[in-house]
Amino acid sequence: MRRLNNYVNGTWAEVESEHAVPVYNPAIGEVIAETPLSTHADVARAVEGAKRAFASWSRVPVAKRARVMFDFLAKLKAERDAIAKMITTEHGKSYLDAQAEVDRGIEGIEHALSAPTLMMGESLAEVSEGLEQTYYRYPLGVVASITPFNFPAMIPLWVMGWAVVTGNALILKPSEQTPMTTLRLVEMFHEAGLPPGVLQAVNGGKEAVDAILSHPKIVAVNFTGSTRTAAYVYETAARHQKRVQAFAGAKNHAIVLEDAVLEPTIDGILRAAFHNGGQRCMATSVVVAVGSVADEVVERLAEGARRMKIGPGFEKGVDVTPLIRKEHRDRVRAYVDEAAMSARLVVDGRPAIDEHPEGFYLGPCLLDGVTPEMRVWQEELFGPVLSVVRARDLDEAIAIANRSRYANGAILYTQRGKAAQVFRDRIDAGMVGINVNVPLPVAFFPFGGHKDSFYGVTGENGKELVQFFTRRKVVSTRWI
Ligand code: NAD
Repeated sequence: MRRLNNYVNGTWAEVESEHAVPVYNPAIGEVIAETPLSTHADVARAVEGAKRAFASWSRVPVAKRARVMFDFLAKLKAERDAIAKMITTEHGKSYLDAQAEVDRGIEGIEHALSAPTLMMGESLAEVSEGLEQTYYRYPLGVVASITPFNFPAMIPLWVMGWAVVTGNALILKPSEQTPMTTLRLVEMFHEAGLPPGVLQAVNGGKEAVDAILSHPKIVAVNFTGSTRTAAYVYETAARHQKRVQAFAGAKNHAIVLEDAVLEPTIDGILRAAFHNGGQRCMATSVVVAVGSVADEVVERLAEGARRMKIGPGFEKGVDVTPLIRKEHRDRVRAYVDEAAMSARLVVDGRPAIDEHPEGFYLGPCLLDGVTPEMRVWQEELFGPVLSVVRARDLDEAIAIANRSRYANGAILYTQRGKAAQVFRDRIDAGMVGINVNVPLPVAFFPFGGHKDSFYGVTGENGKELVQFFTRRKVVSTRWI
């Protein structure tokens, strides 16, 4: 069995601990590698190297740092399909979705090339007589990023480019469930000329995270994952006086009004709900069907869901791919079992479990008559389950969506500008779509939600991440 290594000081490094967890190919349920679980000592070694590297890297002019990114970008583009294959193998998502993921990650690196402009401060020549003031941005030091299983290329790419181009040294802890893609990206960054120690990959789970959160030399932590872990990371890092932001779980609502153009609406909802097995923080998991259109919406969603192709990510035309682990699939199935007792299970994807015993499959499940009192509405399932809630009008639909503890994305399908305006202003969500199925901000807009979907201030990507990874210094000058 291939045991993975950490990537420390520009080379592969064995992990001290004996403990490891399996990495699966979810399409066939086979173990393909082992992720070692780094200890406090493993993390401390990586931090020591990063600290040394920071001393010189932070003094490399930002334009020169960006040049390394150019070479990394060229490599990424050349190896885009090979990376996508790794994603499909260890995550299970379709090869098309994996390619799209790498493309979104590439956009993050492309935009990070504008760091020389984004790191500029501001000046005022005459704040008072003879006095000028200027603020500058400086890197923070050794920073850390902890990433989830569901985007092993895009999320690390969104963070690592910005952390490094702004002059920091980064300790990156990939998801222990899908580490191989991320580790390859780290290696590629070094092949492109990144100096040893600037980017250290440390494998592991809770102990590695705890070591990061309590290490006195790590000054900032950027986290993406479930809400429960996000809250823990946010509180623990803050207790250790670190700058921290944590992107968390979601329950995204899509409201369909009576005037929506139904064909593309239904098609878009089906893809947003069921592709990647629903394992996306931007997946649509609740449809709020408004007024008289509700029956037709449910009917058309059911027709589409029944037609969806279930299978491995490398199969052509596949829609619903396996879930990450058997235990996770069984957990999602248990939610469906429970919900089916109070709501109407219109499409039952559970038979796919026996029809595809080779992997961790669950077919698309559609529930009608769901209410906010049910657990299936309240909690993030992270599986191919779509709930339909019925509402009288737009006001009620917005009120239902706003009752959720999550507030990542929300979508309105309509042709009425006025309704869209009302929705835009009243919906509580960080990323809002009007007739857009997955309202993912492009790399130059900040990414992030509200409420229990995000703990922090600045968003992922772009200017806001530059703010997160730098600190200001305001200099007042007077010549006498
Ligand atoms: P997770 O919380 O289980 O794991 C995320 C990271 O935290 C991993 O690196 C993991 O090793 C670590 N971790 C897990 N349990 C821990 C613990 N008890 N203590 C310390 N560290 C721990 O999340 P996941 O299952 O990998 O990812 C899916 C979740 O991430 C979903 O909830 C999804 O909505 C969310 N997500 C959010 C965004 C966003 O931008 N808001 C993006 C992608 C995924």
